[in-house]
Amino acid sequence: MANNPFEAPTHHGGAATPGTSGDAWAEGDILVTDPHAVLPCVCARCGTSEGVEHVKLKAQWVPMWARMTILLSPLVYLIVFFIVKKGCEVQVGLCESHRTQRKLGQIGGAVALIAGLFALLGGAFLAEMNEALILPAIGGGFVLLIVGLVMLVVMAVPLRVQKITADRAEFKGAHAGLLQAVGGGGL
Ligand SMILES: [Zn+2]
Repeated sequence: MANNPFEAPTHHGGAATPGTSGDAWAEGDILVTDPHAVLPCVCARCGTSEGVEHVKLKAQWVPMWARMTILLSPLVYLIVFFIVKKGCEVQVGLCESHRTQRKLGQIGGAVALIAGLFALLGGAFLAEMNEALILPAIGGGFVLLIVGLVMLVVMAVPLRVQKITADRAEFKGAHAGLLQAVGGGGL
C-alpha cells in the first residue's frame, strides 16, 4: 500500500506524445487513454512488469455541475446522471500482490458495507428493547460503512478516474513506471 504520489517527476518537456503506445499516453502525471484501451503489462500500482495480468477497470463519470444537481433532488440527479454519464472500460495491468490487494479490497469492502448496514438497521430495532445500545450500533455501523467505502475506493480501484469524455479517459494515481511505459516520460 506504499503509494508514493509524489514520485520524482518524469520529463515534462516531452510529455504529451499521443499515440506512443497506440491508445494510452501520459500528460504529466495524468494517464490518458482511449475509453477502451488495453494498457501495457506494467503494474499500475508499483510499476513492475513481473507477473502482471490485466484486470478490467469499469468506471462512469459525470462533470461537477451534474453532481451538484443532487442538491436539487436525488431524482433530478439520477436523471441527469443517466443523460450525461460517460463510461470507460480499460484493461489495467496489476502484479500478483496488487491483484490480491484489489481482491481483498473488493471482498473486505463489501463485507464491511453489508455489516455496517445491518448495524444501522439493528440499531433501529434495538431502540425498542434497550436505548443504551442504539448509539454503539449506529456509531459502529457508520464506522463500518466508511471503512468499507475506503477499502473499495483505495484498495480495489487500480487507478482513480479524473475525467471521462466520449473519446478519452483521464486517470490519476498511475505509477511512474506505467506512465513511462505508455510513452509520456520520453527518454
Ligand atoms: Zn504491483
